[in-house]
Amino acid sequence: MAYENNNFGERTMHKGNWTCADCGASITELPFKPNPERENELKCRDCHRKSAPKRSGGRGGSFGGPREMFKGDWECSKCNTAITELPFKPNPERTDNLMCRDCFKASRA
Ligand SMILES: [Zn+2]
Ligand SMILES: [Zn+2]
Repeated sequence: MAYENNNFGERTMHKGNWTCADCGASITELPFKPNPERENELKCRDCHRKSAPKRSGGRGGSFGGPREMFKGDWECSKCNTAITELPFKPNPERTDNLMCRDCFKASRA
């Protein structure tokens, strides 16, 4: 059962103390390291699931499993590379903070 873990990393849970932007529930762990500037946009597991535009059936409930990619047309804020897909749905107001895969990886290192 090898799923492809894309380059955004392993499924390590990051512990913390955040609040869901939608329902106000507290979030104590996340399958990714949140950008500190975007902590106020985080969603709890339930809201995250609800907001997913489509679910490609199967593997119900495995939060942090194979990620859906969102297609679009953005630009990396660091190196200006074109970004055509992201593992999350970016806030339209924050697209000038997006990073390409490489810069994203570099920023977590
Ligand atoms: Zn929520
Ligand atoms: Zn970049």
